[in-house]
Amino acid sequence: MTGPTIGVLALQGDVREHVRALESVGAHAVPVRRERELHGIQGMVIPGGESTVMDKLLRAFELFDPLQERLREGLVAYGSCAGMIMLADRVADATADQRTLGGLDVTVRRNAFGRQVDSFERDITYAGSPPPMRAVFIRAPWVEDVGPQVEVLARLEGGGFDGRVVAVRQGTLLATSFHPEVTGDLRVHSHFVDLVRQRAQ
Ligand code: GLN
Repeated sequence: MTGPTIGVLALQGDVREHVRALESVGAHAVPVRRERELHGIQGMVIPGGESTVMDKLLRAFELFDPLQERLREGLVAYGSCAGMIMLADRVADATADQRTLGGLDVTVRRNAFGRQVDSFERDITYAGSPPPMRAVFIRAPWVEDVGPQVEVLARLEGGGFDGRVVAVRQGTLLATSFHPEVTGDLRVHSHFVDLVRQRAQ
């Protein structure tokens, strides 16, 4: 059985790590930089990076509108960190002209954990399933509020920032504040590829 073909937006960020993680869970992963590369994919990963830059690059590469259209048509997508911001309908602390692709009925706060904690790691419970998952946060956003259709998949527990939402799903869209591609824990990618498979059936 061949796995689904999944695009990884390759304008910036850790594209290679996502490609490797997707291939490890049985998908066929392809970098996407051009509109024509959107054809034939059944899912899309939007990696971390810097959301304001990604927004500008998407427009410069004439990918913003076609990708947004595919997402509205039901392309299954996973956004990590800046990718989560790109999928959010509302952004707190956005720059004046920042746009997002949207689709997730959430407000995310950019750089929410503050300058003093640029990056940190914590154990979280993902989608209610043990064992704990090591989550790496790098100038990460958090989800500040969620609409009624949004399922919360993970929150920070205990310590600073207790209760903050860091993983969500709404229909075909999945997003995490953290970077699962750097830890070797494949559960988020595996969950995402399952969503792509379900949608393809
Ligand atoms: N702070 C970045 C932004 O606003 C996100 C950081 C990341 O993706 N690691 O887009």
